[in-house]
Amino acid sequence: ATRRLTGFTPSGVLHLGNYLGAIRPIVDGVDDTDTVVFISDLHALTIEHDPALVRRRTVEFATLLLAAGADPDRCLFLVQSHVPEHAELHYLLECATGYGEAQRMIQFREKSRRQEQIRVSLLTYPILMAADILLYDADEVPVGGDQSQHVELARDVAYRFNTRYGRTFVVPRAVHPPVAARIMDLTSPTDKMSKSTSSAAGALRLLDEPDALRRKVMRAVTDTGTDVVYDPDHRPGVSNLLDILAACTADDPRVLAPLFTSYGELKRAVADSVVATLAPVRERYADLAADPTYVRDVLRAGAARARDLAGAKVRAAKEAIGLLPA
Ligand code: ATP
Ligand code: MG
Repeated sequence: ATRRLTGFTPSGVLHLGNYLGAIRPIVDGVDDTDTVVFISDLHALTIEHDPALVRRRTVEFATLLLAAGADPDRCLFLVQSHVPEHAELHYLLECATGYGEAQRMIQFREKSRRQEQIRVSLLTYPILMAADILLYDADEVPVGGDQSQHVELARDVAYRFNTRYGRTFVVPRAVHPPVAARIMDLTSPTDKMSKSTSSAAGALRLLDEPDALRRKVMRAVTDTGTDVVYDPDHRPGVSNLLDILAACTADDPRVLAPLFTSYGELKRAVADSVVATLAPVRERYADLAADPTYVRDVLRAGAARARDLAGAKVRAAKEAIGLLPA
């Protein structure tokens, strides 16, 4: 089966965009894909971070993914730092990547512009991401537009390594989830909902209480005009609400639009569907969080399975690149 890999960086609070765009497709795809899901905690260290918070969010993310239906018996489920081969392959791939190549990454240029102290790891982040992907022979990496360039880099590095040192890696490709690929921020609907940059009012967080979810939807920025039409370019606010409703109810935003005669009516329907979609996740989260040993056991077992695969891949890469086997 096709192997598909998705990572979640514990650097913010998971939101409905993450759920509809990334988590639900993992759960739905488990029958016909070979799935790798990981919490990319090493990536959370590339910018200023609070150690206690990263640790707490790592557990929270893992618990939420399990609560949302990721089945650790049917996919490979792990925390990146529990599998030291990620860091080991990262170094080998740094030796196959140009400085200019890394510096050219748009996300690095944008994030580094916003900071005074730029960590070296922010520059090498895409090379660690390439290691994450190549370590498991992933064929497909589902990404939003902001990560496409990084998958492109992973392809280039894999291809170059294979050509120069002998066939070692599967050359991966980026895939774009068809549904709800981009849920937008409720208060600023031309920006995507983001766990690190959206305000609390702009993001529907997976663990928000139903009342908070409703309040945020009712206060979402809408467009001038009063009729409900689906037109993402000219009516981004209303179109985003229609996209959310469509994704939560497995419908089509163009079909839904004419069913509403006012923004208020649309918002009430959106609030209902979001609350109904997230309620089971919140309930299951509470159950799982009540027994912290369960999640820790799942992660320990996942890391052990992952190390079998990753260890073999790193041995092959070391041998190809010229290191003496121990
Ligand atoms: P950050 O601001 O830290 O980049 P993020 O919200 O973009 O956070 P990521 O960790 O970059 O989250 O992405 C996790 C997964 O969620 C990815 O597969 C990404 O494509 C998906 N995703 C992120 N934001 C959205 C969104 N607004 N709509 C749909 N999918 C999204
Ligand atoms: Mg992102």
